[in-house]
Parts: sequence; structure tokens; C-alpha cells
Amino acid sequence: MPQASTNKTASSRDIGIDLGTANTLVYARGHGIVLNEPSVVAVRAGTTTALAVGADAKETIGRTPGSITAIRPLKDGVICDYEAAEEMIRHFVRKAVPGRRTRTRMVICVPSGVTPVERRAIVNASTRAGAKAVHLIEEPMAAAIGAGLPVAEPRGSMVVDIGGGTSEVAVISLGGIVTSRSLRVGGDRLDAAIMDHVRKEHALLIGERTAEHAKLAIGSAWPVPDRPELEDLTFTVRGREKVGGMPKTLALGARDVRAALDEPVEAIIAAVRGTLEECPPELSGDVMEHGIVLTGGGALLPGLDLRMASATGIPVFVADNPLDCVALGSGRCVEDLDTLNGLLTPARG
Ligand code: ADP
Ligand code: MG
Repeated sequence: MPQASTNKTASSRDIGIDLGTANTLVYARGHGIVLNEPSVVAVRAGTTTALAVGADAKETIGRTPGSITAIRPLKDGVICDYEAAEEMIRHFVRKAVPGRRTRTRMVICVPSGVTPVERRAIVNASTRAGAKAVHLIEEPMAAAIGAGLPVAEPRGSMVVDIGGGTSEVAVISLGGIVTSRSLRVGGDRLDAAIMDHVRKEHALLIGERTAEHAKLAIGSAWPVPDRPELEDLTFTVRGREKVGGMPKTLALGARDVRAALDEPVEAIIAAVRGTLEECPPELSGDVMEHGIVLTGGGALLPGLDLRMASATGIPVFVADNPLDCVALGSGRCVEDLDTLNGLLTPARG
């Protein structure tokens, strides 16, 4: 079987889609992950015509002239722009599965907080993109499968998927979600917290892309003993002075960024605690013993695992390739589509 790789085309008819708020990944049966692009659509203002989708569109965020808008159709974990979402799904499916798609079956991961109306919108968009059958799977379930957790066993497993717009916390046992929480705090909120902090403490206005770059370069949630050099890193941000409006650069320190991230990081940890409190005691005992697994891009924030472990008294592990877990989990379902129907909800448009 060919190795998984990104942005290769596939002729396979069954695909899994991780429809993330920040990134969309497509897994093709027999091929692995064939597409991985930002969930962004650039449209001409006042129209629904997509000028660019994915990586090309992300480049335009914060840089568009008045006539072009860069839309993130799923920004807060829900579909905030149906037309753009549909355009995006269609574009990615065409790119990942060229040629005739009349027999394509799709497994699509959706945030557990999506409403029935949004579920229907996703199914409709996928059907119009050429799906013969659409199954929806809840993100934490896909994340847990992709992280290699024994979801089918009578044993509690906890997964925390930290995406761009949302974080999903779930305890899974016997192939089902026992308790879960979805909160609208993820990577975007971390970026916004950095923007707010720089505005309040340094009177400088910076864009969300700049804030994200600072987070990726020097962000952390807690000191990491193995990486003491992190403490003294700085990152130069360019922005506009709050008063006067002139362009200005600032060397932002790693401790400064950590202080900025404190509140959203605490919110994620509070959700983990809350989910544990709601969990039946046998299952929380399992989680105590086997630990919590982190997936999603936010899992890569240095020190988040240590801080969560310290706050909960439970070991915390970052999954291998956390950004790919949901797509790989949907892929596992796609590979076993004929046998795995018990885990999936057949969806109708
Ligand atoms: P979604 O599933 O919502 O599309 P992802 O799981 O793809 O989200 O994660 C995207 C988020 O992860 C973004 O907010 C991005 O800034 C963040 N992210 C990616 N890599 C890192 C990293 N090394 N440290 C901190 N955050 C990261
Ligand atoms: Mg995700």
C-alpha cells in the first residue's frame, strides 16, 4: 500500500474528512492522508464565488483588499458560513478525488457541538460534492481512534482534542462517548489572548496571523524542564501603535506570552476537571491509571501536558502526530466501512 502523504490525488472512492476549524484533512481508503490544508475560503465581497480555497486562501488573511474576504467557514466550531463551507468541501473533495465521484462514500468528523441543522448542512454539501453515502462521526471518537486508544474495550479512555476553534474533552468506553464537553476555546483563543495582551501591556495592535506566529515560535503553558532555553526566547512582532497608529516592532518575551495564554489554558484544564467529575467512578479510575491523551494542534503547545498533569494529578500524554489523529481515526472507519457501521451514524440530507 502506498505511504500516507499530503496533497496527492487518489482514485479511491471512500474518503474520510476531518473538517476542522483550522485545517481540513482528507484520508483516502488505501492511500492515507492525501490532503491537508487550512479551512479557509477567499471570496469576492458580496458574492459567493470562491477566489481561492485552502493554503492559497490562508495567505490572504488580514491582507485582503476591501473587495476580497477571507472566510473561515467553521471558525468557532460551528458552521458560520454555509455557502463557504459547501464551496470548501466541494473544492477539497474534487482535489483529493479527481474524476468521477458518483460512488464515493464519506466519513466526516464534526465537532460534537454541531446542531442538527449544521449536520444536515454538512451532509448536503457533501452530497452535492458527489458523495453517495455520508456518515458523520464525532470528533473526539475519531481523535481517540486515531491516537490508538482502545475505544471498543470496556475501559475508560480520555481524549482532549484541542483544535483551532474548539476543544473537545471526552471519556470513551465500549465504542461510545460516555461524557464529553465541547468548549469554544482553542488555538484561536490563544492567539486572541496574545493580541489582547500585546494591546494592553505594550499599546501595540497586531494581527491574528502575527499572534499565531508568536505562539508557535515561543508560546508555552508551563515551564518545560527539558527545554530551559524556552524561557528566554523572544519573538519580534510587527504591528501598529494603539496611539498614533504608526508601524512599530516589539520583541515579545516567552514569559510574556505564557502570561497571555494563562486564562484560555486554565479554561481548557477546567473543562478536563469538569468532565472527570461527571465521569462514572469506574471509568475515572481507568483514566487515573492510563492517563489523558492530547490530540489536535493545541496539544503541541509546550508545557500544556505538564500543567494539565499537575492540575489533575493524572498522567497526560501527547499523541503521536496530534494534528493527524482525527483524520487517521476517520481513515480507520473508512478502511472498515463495511464492518464498522455500529460506531457511525448514517446521515441523511
Ligand atoms: P482544527 O481541528 O480545529 O482544524 P487543528 O487540530 O488542526 O485544529 O489545530 C490547529 C490549531 O493548532 C491552530 O490554532 C494552531 O495555531 C495550533 N497549533 C499548531 N501547532 C502548534 C504548536 N506547535 N503549538 C501550539 N499550537 C499549535
Ligand atoms: Mg480537529
